[in-house]
Amino acid sequence: MSYKIRTYGDPVLKSRAAPVDNVDGKIIRLVDDMFDTLIDSGNGLALAAPQIGVQKQVVVWDMDEEPLAIFNPEIIESDGEWLYDEGCLSIPGLYVEMLRPKLVLVRGVDIEGNVIEIEADELEARMFQHEIDHLQGVLMFDRMSKDQRKQALTEYRRMEEEAVAEASRRPMRRRLGMK
Ligand code: ZN
Repeated sequence: MSYKIRTYGDPVLKSRAAPVDNVDGKIIRLVDDMFDTLIDSGNGLALAAPQIGVQKQVVVWDMDEEPLAIFNPEIIESDGEWLYDEGCLSIPGLYVEMLRPKLVLVRGVDIEGNVIEIEADELEARMFQHEIDHLQGVLMFDRMSKDQRKQALTEYRRMEEEAVAEASRRPMRRRLGMK
């Protein structure tokens, strides 16, 4: 079952998620729902449970052959620097060039309940850093410099207003048979 993705301003995105103690049927169902939501998002690489309103330390991603999940992930080592135009499904449309470590070593629990470690580089490393932030209630805006944040918030609000204006024009277009 696919969920609506929570967006910036929703308090759940500012809260800390609780660890998963038990990989049981309920958690597996949550992972399946997160896979569905991620696939339906169309352009998302990864999703953290708080983004669908669930305060659990669950991250799913879809960058390899099949979607994967990790519970209670933490970054235990990081190295280097990498600039990347980072985006977020909860801040739709906004991409901001941000500097973060290039390499990370992530430790967590897999779907079978085993402790695993994943070495990730560049885009995959960025994904883990971004999603693990979500589990702590940290958003991209919190990682920006003061000037970057001011500019990004202004741009995001402008895009939101445009989206509202666009939605109010839509019925008219439909009546006129426009696309
Ligand atoms: Zn995000």
